[in-house]
Amino acid sequence: MVFPQDSSGLYSSSSSIMGVHDDTHKANLKAYGGMNMDCVNEAFMFKYVDKDLWVSPDDEISQLQMVVESEKLLNNEKLVLVLDLDKTLLHTTKRSKYLKTPEELLQPKFKDSLFRVQPWAMMTKLRPFVHTFLKEASTMFELHICTMGKRDYASKMVEFLDPEKVYFKSRVITREDLVDSEEKSLDLVPRHKRTAIIVDDNQHVWKHDQSNLILVKKYLYFNPKSATSIASFSALNTDEDETTGVLPTILEKLKLIHRLFFNPKSKGGLVHTDVRSILAHLRVLQGCKLIFKGIFPPSLKPENSCLWLMAEELGAICSMDDVLTPFTHVVTWAATTEESQQAELDKSILVHPRWLHACYDACKRYPEKDFQVELKN
Ligand SMILES: [Mg+2]
Repeated sequence: MVFPQDSSGLYSSSSSIMGVHDDTHKANLKAYGGMNMDCVNEAFMFKYVDKDLWVSPDDEISQLQMVVESEKLLNNEKLVLVLDLDKTLLHTTKRSKYLKTPEELLQPKFKDSLFRVQPWAMMTKLRPFVHTFLKEASTMFELHICTMGKRDYASKMVEFLDPEKVYFKSRVITREDLVDSEEKSLDLVPRHKRTAIIVDDNQHVWKHDQSNLILVKKYLYFNPKSATSIASFSALNTDEDETTGVLPTILEKLKLIHRLFFNPKSKGGLVHTDVRSILAHLRVLQGCKLIFKGIFPPSLKPENSCLWLMAEELGAICSMDDVLTPFTHVVTWAATTEESQQAELDKSILVHPRWLHACYDACKRYPEKDFQVELKN
């Protein structure tokens, strides 16, 4: 395992991070080294580890460090969020035509979002909502940066994003840390992979961690209008929406993943203690908007029902009434001829609740026609 340079030692494989009191516990370390860390017994008692005693650094220690830190996070109901910089959280341009005067930078709409980057004569625009995104995400996730940019550049960007140094600390992986300059890897993040979510605008750089990835639309503030592209935000003197743009949407998804991960009522039980499984399920019914008719008794709060939760875990948006328009599916046991005709007019599909169970269990979308509702007279 290769770790980035880090003055604090957080990511350093050569730091003396912990020690053991006696040979028994040294033996314990040996016993745990090299294992799949997802399989490590949670009962392992780290109270024996003492920071004042020295243990020679090797992969076993790195893995033990990963286990300790990961378990600490899980105990605090926190997951891990690995964020890209360029075109994900911000956009930087070298084009001199965008270099604003100090007066322009003082405009209220650019407050804390548009920066000249000295000494490189560049401009950086932060993505709208990014400060709120980081603040809220940090309550559910330990935040990391992983960028193809160089360390000097990344440090400058982190200053803009995190001026108080509360979100990332030293958890910044840059080009200098990558084993392959064309590839990013969760191997550089010393945490359980089953707890790590990646947010990046480029899926190709995460060759081996696709199942941890949430792909985001690129943020291109400065790009000039050309024959083949739409006008940039800068050219149109506008920007992504603060409340309905990309980062607010991603934040809602992260909240859902966090809730599902730590929700003991999730149908999948232990399988849902892996963000990769949650992400895989969330893709199954992505884009579907469901309304439920005649399914739940009045005494039951639909949001707490197994069926509703399952639909949410499959990525569908759920509702109890027709205000969710346009909706794509009506989940019901049976329908009259009139209700079938109305569904056709609404361009929605009537489907039996068993469809949700089947999709969930197989983690794939089955044809709705195989789960038709009964006809009632
Ligand atoms: Mg990027």
